Amino acid sequence: MLIDVKQLFDVEGEARRVDYELDLSGMELGTMCPLSKPVAIRGEICNRAGVVTLRYTASFVYEGVCDRCLEPVIRPFAMDFEHTLVTRLEGEDQDEFLVIEDGKLEMDELVRSDILLEFPTKILCGEDCKGLCPVCGTNRNIRDCGCRKPQPDPRLAALKELLD
Ligand SMILES: [Zn+2]
Ligand SMILES: [Zn+2]
Repeated sequence: MLIDVKQLFDVEGEARRVDYELDLSGMELGTMCPLSKPVAIRGEICNRAGVVTLRYTASFVYEGVCDRCLEPVIRPFAMDFEHTLVTRLEGEDQDEFLVIEDGKLEMDELVRSDILLEFPTKILCGEDCKGLCPVCGTNRNIRDCGCRKPQPDPRLAALKELLD
């Protein structure tokens, strides 16, 4: 969605609601695309004493798998973001300001990069997820398979016996 913000820069006290749904079903997080349902964007852009600020909340449901045990995980998220909009940079830190050169804000791209930057690197089904057994692949949250450390290679064991 392209938002015309020209007037917001020109008029102090001016405000505009940002309220729409964005399809990010094609966006990859890790190795999958877990946002199959639309992301709800709710926020506002306002000009307070000449400073133009965008604040919004992106609400969505993550439908993926646990990074440790690979069981399905469905979890709602609500992420808050805030950006100060400027028409040009004057020696400020690029990261803090969003430069609007042609009076138009490309909202979809912004939401996409905000979520990507903010999203946790790991999603677990629970803080205490025990994960999969590296030996037999059993989900250790469901059953204790009793495996110990990976077995040594039998050929190496035979060699060791010879050397001993
Ligand atoms: Zn898990
Ligand atoms: Zn096992």
